[in-house]
Amino acid sequence: MKETVLGIQVNTETYDELIQQIFDRIEKKEKSLIVAINPEKIMKAKDDPALKKLLNEAEFQIPDGIGVILASKLQKGNIIERVTGIDLMMRICEEAAKRQKRVFLYGAKPGVAATAAEKLKELYPGIQIAGVQHGYEKDNEKVVAAINEAKPDILFVAMGSPKQENWINANRDRLYPIIYQGVGGSFDVLAGNVKRAPEFFQKIGLEWFYRLMLEPKRIKRQMALPKFLLEVLRNK
Ligand code: UDP
Repeated sequence: MKETVLGIQVNTETYDELIQQIFDRIEKKEKSLIVAINPEKIMKAKDDPALKKLLNEAEFQIPDGIGVILASKLQKGNIIERVTGIDLMMRICEEAAKRQKRVFLYGAKPGVAATAAEKLKELYPGIQIAGVQHGYEKDNEKVVAAINEAKPDILFVAMGSPKQENWINANRDRLYPIIYQGVGGSFDVLAGNVKRAPEFFQKIGLEWFYRLMLEPKRIKRQMALPKFLLEVLRNK
């Protein structure tokens, strides 16, 4: 099920329901793109028709960011749970290990994807890592060939948004994987290069506050949230 937030489609399902749908799609060989939606992207898409199209044409739009949940509440919608890109990626990896599906990690600086893959093997014993590729290879044909030779079912692309989604859309027709997820800086987090907020802050929805304390410069980005919520109210 999807709900529209300021013109952008967002999935209303929980992690469990999404995992079910994603693995059903693997069985049916229905290629699918998963994009993470947050207030910043929704506001950007308002004046960027190409971004709007890209986001709305994805098969899955997950409600990443507490602002999307608040927006849904304001418009009496059905999005109850935040689904973050990195947490969904972890859930997909957990399930992939159980079902013997192969995953490939593409993106981040040289060495990072390999370290992230080691971490995944620790967390989900038996997970089949089909391969890894850093995100700065200039020869795209080489990247496509490496992925296709590895025959992954699932491809995680960590090159920042919308670069990663644009790359997926430009190449998915000739790529082997079925599931494509843009995961931003997640390989860096997995590899331990970037720390997430302590679980306490994540649980109470204040990850943004923790990050603001560490990086006061983020206030500019975060000021977009009240503006976004006002816009949602105005559009009700
Ligand atoms: N990156 C990459 N290739 C590029 C540009 C960026 O692999 O050409 C990687 C970069 O090393 C980092 C990630 O993309 O690992 C960007 O993460 P960021 O947190 O900026 O993404 P966001 O989640 O904010 O979209």
